[in-house]
Amino acid sequence: MTSSEQSPLVAMVGGGQLARMTHQAAIALGRGLRVVAEHPDDPAAQVSPDVVLGKADDLEALRRAARGAVAVTFDHEHVPQAVLRALEADGVAVHPPSSALRFAQDKLAMRERLVELGAPAPGFWRVVDPEQCPWPDGGVVLKTASGGYDGRGVWFPQSQDEAQEVVAQLLEAGQDVLAEEKVVAKRELSALVARSPLGQVAAWPVVETVQENGMCVVVVAPAQGLPPGLAAAAQELAIKIATELGVVGVLAVELFETEDGRILVNELAMRPHNSGHWTMDGSTTSQFEQHLRAVLDYPLGDPGLTAGVVVMANIVGGVAANGMSMDERVHHLMARSPRVKVHLYGKEPRPGRKIGHVNLLGAAADAPAVRAEAEQAARWLSSGTGLSGGE
Ligand code: ADP
Repeated sequence: MTSSEQSPLVAMVGGGQLARMTHQAAIALGRGLRVVAEHPDDPAAQVSPDVVLGKADDLEALRRAARGAVAVTFDHEHVPQAVLRALEADGVAVHPPSSALRFAQDKLAMRERLVELGAPAPGFWRVVDPEQCPWPDGGVVLKTASGGYDGRGVWFPQSQDEAQEVVAQLLEAGQDVLAEEKVVAKRELSALVARSPLGQVAAWPVVETVQENGMCVVVVAPAQGLPPGLAAAAQELAIKIATELGVVGVLAVELFETEDGRILVNELAMRPHNSGHWTMDGSTTSQFEQHLRAVLDYPLGDPGLTAGVVVMANIVGGVAANGMSMDERVHHLMARSPRVKVHLYGKEPRPGRKIGHVNLLGAAADAPAVRAEAEQAARWLSSGTGLSGGE
């Protein structure tokens, strides 16, 4: 193929698993992804032949990556606003633009903007003095405004004294701190949508996300037993946020569902998201393909489910693997559960680190059994335990 016939090139900042899986989707569209990675052994750098080595705040590295690319996009939120705006000033198509991405980078800015949009959300306070830390009836959750992920950057103090201590330490470390009303949620949901520069939007079914220690571990698509009116409201809310903020690409709106049937926004992510990994096997259009379609300004794909229920379970590293290599564990799992789809990220299994996920599709009526089998498969790949007869 001559270069003039090649598909347009997208550059993604960040070399993690999201870039790795976006690269998979980019291959199907006729081209791989160019990635900006810190290390040659980062998950995406292992697989893309087109790697720019550099940190996410290195403007010159990002400029090199942008050269010849039709768009620059992200697998994380950690590119400083000044760097984003410098690229935009160069004429680079930055998707999502800096004006949208700031609401995924700064939880205080996000909360303030959601109030302006009238989006339902927990009450919050900017805390600048430990003595002034609020303590409403249900207590608070403390967060750093930026830099957190997978529950790092979130604290659950048990008393006002403890809250004040945490705030003092965070302020001392130079962090901006917010306190949020502690929500008593029935469960957590995610409304995932994609938006193109021309404003086309597509919404996947609303899913349930199950968290452990602040980290997503299981996703059930669609969320079981969610009243259709609430599901539609969550999708409409996500579309409204994507549109009003001018997001381009995938937007995940993480939500709490309350016992009294309301939804409240927890946070926003403007990139492919853990709550959308099920789409790789369970939707007509995966979130990674859709993200590329959006940043390339192609028409968006059908976000429908391809099964009655789809369950994703994360493989988390750090637990002793029972003396078995990953290769052996995969081998046993495949023999035991031939319908399970395995996705590994090429990461060292450090404690609490997501190193892969499994997806399992099934009939809607079998949802509990599908979930149990997916969780069992992920536990097995994490720890080499829990697969009946397999230890
Ligand atoms: P991160 O940016 O690390 O993903 P989040 O803001 O999503 O952090 O918080 C991580 C988890 O902490 C959430 O998924 C939820 O389980 C819990 N959490 C966050 N905010 C609140 C809140 N206001 N009330 C109750 N639980 C919360």
